[in-house]
Amino acid sequence: MIKTAPSVWGECLSFIQDNIKQQAYKTWFEPIKPIKLSGEALTIQVPSKFFYEWLEEHYIKLLRVALVKQLGEDAKLIYDVRMENNYSSSKPHTVKIPSSNRNPINPQGITMPLDFNKRELRNPFVIPGIQKVKIESQLNPNYNFDSFVEGDSNRLARSASMAVANKPGGTSFNPLLIYGGVGLGKTHLAHAIGVQIKDKYPDKTVLYISSEKFTQQYIDSVKANTRNDFIHFYSMIDVLLIDDVQFLSGKTGTQDVFFHIFNHLHQNGKQVILTSDKAPVDMQDIEQRLLSRFKWGLSAELQVPDYETRISILQNKLYRDGVEMPEEIVEYIAKHIKSNVRELEGVLISMIAQASFNRKEFTLSLTKQIVDKFVKNTKREVSIDYIQKIVSNYFELDVTTLQSKTRKRHIVQARQLAMYFAKRMTKASLASIGSQIGKRDHATVLHACKTVDNLTETDKQFRKYVDDITKKLTF
Ligand code: ADP
Ligand code: MG
Repeated sequence: MIKTAPSVWGECLSFIQDNIKQQAYKTWFEPIKPIKLSGEALTIQVPSKFFYEWLEEHYIKLLRVALVKQLGEDAKLIYDVRMENNYSSSKPHTVKIPSSNRNPINPQGITMPLDFNKRELRNPFVIPGIQKVKIESQLNPNYNFDSFVEGDSNRLARSASMAVANKPGGTSFNPLLIYGGVGLGKTHLAHAIGVQIKDKYPDKTVLYISSEKFTQQYIDSVKANTRNDFIHFYSMIDVLLIDDVQFLSGKTGTQDVFFHIFNHLHQNGKQVILTSDKAPVDMQDIEQRLLSRFKWGLSAELQVPDYETRISILQNKLYRDGVEMPEEIVEYIAKHIKSNVRELEGVLISMIAQASFNRKEFTLSLTKQIVDKFVKNTKREVSIDYIQKIVSNYFELDVTTLQSKTRKRHIVQARQLAMYFAKRMTKASLASIGSQIGKRDHATVLHACKTVDNLTETDKQFRKYVDDITKKLTF
């Protein structure tokens, strides 16, 4: 029997269909058209570059087995990829790409064929019309390891970051997730990794980007119909630093595309570094499959610096700025500003400014004034105990009833409200909120927050509870 493209592909399909889920088969294989067979090479047409990448990433082994059965060990697969047209007018065109399964030595299989890289690329960092080939890293050279003071609070995160910077993609810290509260140095460390890699490996493509910007670029690419270029651009990066990934919560489209890019980079031994204000278990509205990726490597926490570290940070900063300040003043600042390195720096900057404008010496009274202002401006965090008290009072319960195991509806609601406010108004993790409000687990707290969100939207009476309690808690 003479083999034709449709006959060979038909045989492949029946094998494939037996080996994957029906839904996956429908999505990824039914749209493919066999178009040419020459010798051992079968050409198939796929609807988009994204589609092609997906096949290469997920079904390459299966495709290879199926093809070898039909065409022998030398079987080749060529994709005919319909390119989305970014450059207006001309008709849609196709690009031929040999499958990486021609090269079975590479067990990962997923190398970006060179042809791709030659295509004109749309770099989301470049304003259309201005040619720029090199990707700017967007790094701040002042945020480096030398200027990052080490202390107990950051030792693990700092040393993991250094390990990654010395051997990007070559440690088990991939991805490296740095998490911690506001102003504790996440952004600084992320830049430090990038700066050091650029220094050691100048040829590596490093990119720092905030999650906000990433999201915006993605939205723009969807509008401009250049989603595939967006994906392709990010797939070429050797070291990707994404800051504040908690910002992706609830943004399913962006999470989806990030998932795809992440897999591509990770499978190719590229390094991914993420920062977040929470540990993965406490992240809300991030898809499970993405969270599980975040947990693959190492999650390192940046904690609030202790007194000694705060002193060192202040001294380091003064030294760099060439400013001298009496010791008792440095100690006063370190004693009173405790939870945020950015504020420590803020106080120093204000002091230096004030003293130089007014040609004053640094005095303790000036210091007190400035520190006071900073402390007042930082919103006082309410405690979980206080929240439970206020909520219980509001519903005329006592706190033990609120925490009890009862399923009575009004008590359950009060408890859920307490959890919701604890999440909203404190920095505590879901797990720690749960353990403080009646020894529940983090899933219960998460569920409570969602329930309150839903009820606030649908139930007027409930909305009033939320408003009333908010007022009581904030005044
Ligand atoms: P985050 O991204 O966690 O909110 P940043 O990285 O922006 O915090 O840090 C806030 C400020 O504090 C930055 O100016 C940073 O340089 C400084 N900083 C934080 N941690 C340290 C540290 N260990 N040593 C020196 N400076 C630090
Ligand atoms: Mg930051």
